[in-house]
Amino acid sequence: MFFRIDERDARFVLFEHIKVQELLKLPAFRDHAQETLEMVVAEAARFAREVVQPLNVIGDREGAKFENGKVRFPKAYHEAYRAYCEGGWIASGTSPEWGGQGLPAPLAITSVEFFIGACPAFVVNPMLAHSAAHVLESFASQELKQVYCPKMYAGEWAGTMCLTEPQAGSALGDLKTQAQRAGDHYLLTGTKIFITSGEHDLVKQICHLVLARVEGAPAGIKGVSLFLVPKYLVQKDGSLGERNDVRCLGIEEKMGLHGSATCTMGFGEDGHCVGYLIGKENEGIKLMFQMMNEARIYVGLQGLGIASAAYELALDYAKQRVQGTDAAAFKDPGAPRVPIIRHPDVRRMLTTMKALVEGLRALIVRAGAYSDLAEHGPEEDRAKYQGFLELLTPVCKAYGSEAGFRICDMAMLTLGGYGYIREYGVEQYMRDVKIASIYEGTNGIQAIDLIARKVPAKGGLVFMQFLQEVNTFIDRHKSHPRLGHLFPHLEQARDTIARITMKFGELNMSGDLYYPLLHATPYLHSFGEFILGWLLLEQAVVADEKLQAMGGNVSSGNRPSFLKQNPEGRFYDAKIKTAEFFVTTLLPEVHARAAAVDASSRAALDIVFEGE
Ligand SMILES: Cc1cc2nc3c(=O)[nH]c(=O)nc-3n(C[C@H](O)[C@H](O)[C@H](O)COP(=O)(O)OP(=O)(O)OC[C@H]3O[C@@H](n4cnc5c(N)ncnc54)[C@H](O)[C@@H]3O)c2cc1C
Repeated sequence: MFFRIDERDARFVLFEHIKVQELLKLPAFRDHAQETLEMVVAEAARFAREVVQPLNVIGDREGAKFENGKVRFPKAYHEAYRAYCEGGWIASGTSPEWGGQGLPAPLAITSVEFFIGACPAFVVNPMLAHSAAHVLESFASQELKQVYCPKMYAGEWAGTMCLTEPQAGSALGDLKTQAQRAGDHYLLTGTKIFITSGEHDLVKQICHLVLARVEGAPAGIKGVSLFLVPKYLVQKDGSLGERNDVRCLGIEEKMGLHGSATCTMGFGEDGHCVGYLIGKENEGIKLMFQMMNEARIYVGLQGLGIASAAYELALDYAKQRVQGTDAAAFKDPGAPRVPIIRHPDVRRMLTTMKALVEGLRALIVRAGAYSDLAEHGPEEDRAKYQGFLELLTPVCKAYGSEAGFRICDMAMLTLGGYGYIREYGVEQYMRDVKIASIYEGTNGIQAIDLIARKVPAKGGLVFMQFLQEVNTFIDRHKSHPRLGHLFPHLEQARDTIARITMKFGELNMSGDLYYPLLHATPYLHSFGEFILGWLLLEQAVVADEKLQAMGGNVSSGNRPSFLKQNPEGRFYDAKIKTAEFFVTTLLPEVHARAAAVDASSRAALDIVFEGE
């Protein structure tokens, strides 16, 4: 099966655009050298290609199997999982204090992008172990941390997040799982559904992070607490003891990610499910948000990783598939047949996919850099970067997953009928990527989070600071001798988004909550496109500098021969063309969505659906 990782673009984003090496000046990362980071990228790509990717079709065809309360993953997963753990990939971004490598977040993000593209259903297991361990590291008692974190970060023990119940999906405040105080622990009873990796045979111990309600807790989300529920109780010497009263009751059949187990979990069916409180009672959602926010970035990365694999496949196919003649020779039946990459409509799809993939990669890596700066950066800047990270989280999740699906759809169209059948693997990409727009808070919920919480945060200060960041870039480069003509597109998109944001604020002030919510999802798409426009133009500026230094003035007459002889020149030249395509051809959709807001139609709110 064809599989290609765009290592060149990943290195461009890390080292030429976002400049992750600048983070190495921070005390937290001082022990690393740029060469180490470059080796990590190369090794992650090799590992993804050689160890993880062969699992993709096996996971899809064999799937996870449920028998007698146990879940079995395909045999091939086991050896790969051991290699994943031994390679230290689970904790590559974790502090050495806990056995991690302490790499900057953008490095961990890039590696995981490769692994997801190789086999998303497999990679979710180590990712969950990492995020669950991180919650314990941040909020659990010293005693629990010492017992659980090292084993989870090493991949010896797995982790889950148990939030969803049949009546409590988006509305987590409606969850009913109960926790009763019982001395130094609690006894839990309830049922959770759709729990990823709730049970499996990769490891013996699974550590469930469970949201439940302590008896007498206030109603709603403010009465939710967080518990650690291990599959096996841990003895004083750290070894596994008695089986806890938590069981997998079944797994779901689903559209994609067949190689991942989506479990129904019963807690306390026999009345003795032991759970340990993490943090304080009724503060569970605040703590769980750390895991949810990390998972949201991860889900955006899932959109990117799968979409990148789909795009690379489509690109390779388009260069090889011969069909039809050049458009200019359509009347000549004897004209030579050409590869489909020569057809303008196919070029539109390929360039759209390329722009979205590269823009998303830049967005998520930049979010990773913000998270490092928020945690380890200069004290006085930390709040600003934390704000940026929070603002971008719903965009990474929802725009990343939505664009991921769109890219897979276009990849399928590029392959025509061969995309729809199984042989090439695009249909699996499309099935696997779809869930990213649903879990970790549906994309609709992300859009509400953006307009109702993130944009108005601190009286709009974070949003304004973020726009200021973009303005600084625009002001510095809008008279650029070769790229200046592209900047008005970004400025116009910025003005439109700022205007619609103000309008939503005014409507909210006037008591009209419904109209902004009606347009929340299109707003998030526009905001995502604006950010991608900014990042792709930043990349174009870098690429232009490199081209100039190489003597390859893109507008001069020697462009074709220069590009023919120079692969690096082709890379940078394509960067500039990608940015031009995005800001001139895709970014204007921002204005169409604004026109829809300006139309002030309340039809969707007023329409009466039969039987509503
Ligand atoms: C394969 C898979 C894996 C999963 N893994 C996990 C896991 O590991 N742990 C876990 O806890 N959960 C997991 N989930 C559950 C997942 O997070 C939920 O399915 C998701 O949050 C949506 O909840 P729901 O399915 O109940 O949909 P609902 O909440 O019923 O939503 C249905 C629709 O209504 C919309 N909607 C709902 N409320 C509002 C509102 N207030 N305003 C606007 N629109 C609204 C939603 O956006 C959506 O479009 C998984 C689900 C799947 C399918």
